Amino acid sequence: MKKISAKLVKPYRVDHGKHFRLKDYDPGHTAGVKDKKEATELLERGVHELADLQDKLYAQNSWALLLIFQAMDAAGKDGVIKHVMSGVNPQGCQVYSFKAPSTEELDHDYMWRAMVRMPERGRIGIFNRSYYEEVLVVRVHKELVQAQRIPTSLLRKDIWRDRFEDICSIARYLTRNGIVIRKFFLNVSRKEQKRRFLARLDDPEKNWKFSAADVRERAFWDDYMDAYEDLIRHTATPDAPWHVIPADNKWFTHIAVAEAIIDTLKDLNLSYPKVDSVKAKELEAARALLEDKK
Ligand code: ATP
Ligand code: MG
Repeated sequence: MKKISAKLVKPYRVDHGKHFRLKDYDPGHTAGVKDKKEATELLERGVHELADLQDKLYAQNSWALLLIFQAMDAAGKDGVIKHVMSGVNPQGCQVYSFKAPSTEELDHDYMWRAMVRMPERGRIGIFNRSYYEEVLVVRVHKELVQAQRIPTSLLRKDIWRDRFEDICSIARYLTRNGIVIRKFFLNVSRKEQKRRFLARLDDPEKNWKFSAADVRERAFWDDYMDAYEDLIRHTATPDAPWHVIPADNKWFTHIAVAEAIIDTLKDLNLSYPKVDSVKAKELEAARALLEDKK
């Protein structure tokens, strides 16, 4: 069976944001993968590989992996999480969806709710949306800043720059603690989003997914794209890179994300912990006991 090539995801990885331009990234790109059939075979293989790597991550209990997913509505965040992580042991995975902040959350600094949900060592943590909403929805709808009750003397015009800087500092802190960060922007086109919203209206089994608020948010599409471009420019680093994944074909999105995660875990050179001499003696004693008792 064919394997996903590590080269597949490289073109979408942004390590240095400075010159990043969203218009250079085609939401419909499929990197030479022919069709859904080919992608399904590749994903199946990738899911097995990911399960093996996760098993070692868990056993080693030292590194943690934080995967951040950001996207416009209907870009397929939920589907990516469902398909790509389908083979991993749920015990080693912690998924959290960030919604509009609660009253309790608004009583704290904006990182608080994310910090308490960072993955434990040995785990893969998935953020379905994240603190990046602080420079996305909050930037597009600036009135949301008011609800955060930040002292007005601190609300400089360049608050977004400050936030980029703080987000990068926190990424560096986490990286130095062994929490590896990978960030994904599922890059769907406005046209494909419209098609998916219409499908939610047409198909009774998809009606539940439809939200009139999501359709209203389309009016701010360009503002969101500007905000995405700017945040990637300021927060893409070699340690915490962004992946701008084409999202007009879900089958391609899934294999590209799977490959990025596999590459990351492979780079950690994970292995099962070796037993020391004390533990080896313990195992021998246990074997003797088991064999004796039959
Ligand atoms: P789905 O619709 O598939 O269930 P979703 O991620 O769109 O998934 P929703 O409950 O529809 O979930 O939306 C969450 C909303 O919360 C989004 O509109 C998002 O912009 C908003 N949100 C997330 N974080 C913040 C934040 N810090 N401040 C304000 N709004 C936020
Ligand atoms: Mg939604």
